[in-house]
Amino acid sequence: MFRFARSGTIEYLESGELSAQDFLTHAFCTRRGGVSRAPYDGLNTGDLVGDEEEDLLQNLNLVKDAFAIPDGRLILMRQLHGDRIYLIDEEGPLPDGLPECDGLITDRPGVALGIRTADCVPLFFVDRIRRVIGAAHAGWRGTALGIAARMVATLTERFSSRPEDILAVIGPAIGPCCYQVDAPVLAAFSAVPDADLFFRPCPQKERWMVDLALANRLRILAAGVPSENIYASGLCTSCRQDLFFSHRAAGGRTGRQISLIMLCDGGMH
Ligand SMILES: [Zn+2]
Repeated sequence: MFRFARSGTIEYLESGELSAQDFLTHAFCTRRGGVSRAPYDGLNTGDLVGDEEEDLLQNLNLVKDAFAIPDGRLILMRQLHGDRIYLIDEEGPLPDGLPECDGLITDRPGVALGIRTADCVPLFFVDRIRRVIGAAHAGWRGTALGIAARMVATLTERFSSRPEDILAVIGPAIGPCCYQVDAPVLAAFSAVPDADLFFRPCPQKERWMVDLALANRLRILAAGVPSENIYASGLCTSCRQDLFFSHRAAGGRTGRQISLIMLCDGGMH
């Protein structure tokens, strides 16, 4: 179950199942509640999209205030459409600048992991027993590379997580209603099992409609996470430009929404 909520000026979507975990904070922020002007209106968090630097910084400050993120503890990525995962453990230093990766995992309280998207799939992972969290960015390339399964594998290998303890949440992304792709995208999935389940034929020749959320769900399932632990918002960014930035629907010039997850500091919820 997902529901809309508000903190400060920011309207966001939350998963009821993650909200029930009292040791973490999470939000799939909408585009509503920031200061950027069109075509980045309003809560743009993308730094390479052409928005005003001052507006972007103000938006990031609004996010930090709304979710009580300590100074310097909002970790964003230089997302590369790959499958590299950066670990932030209890002892190590925080990354200097933006780590080049598409996944972040931490067991450290008070460190927020952020994903910036405008159609790509934001993914959260939570080991509810060991209290480890992860955030990943999955566009078609990252999905084909299997970043979702790598997140689960990294949790099990590095944090001894059991797949049955992991909750996985699939946030708003472009849906199979709107996401048309061509042959090179299909080819990228040639080695992926069950691709016929999430590639559907479409009236145009040599084009397919892809369900990226389903593709990621199948990889998370194959990694051992039970289906009852996997939740998807079902919202399409392209259909809902009133709520979300959509790269496709906007013809390329638009902002990026932020999805974030953070373990709470001891005793603080
Ligand atoms: Zn749609």
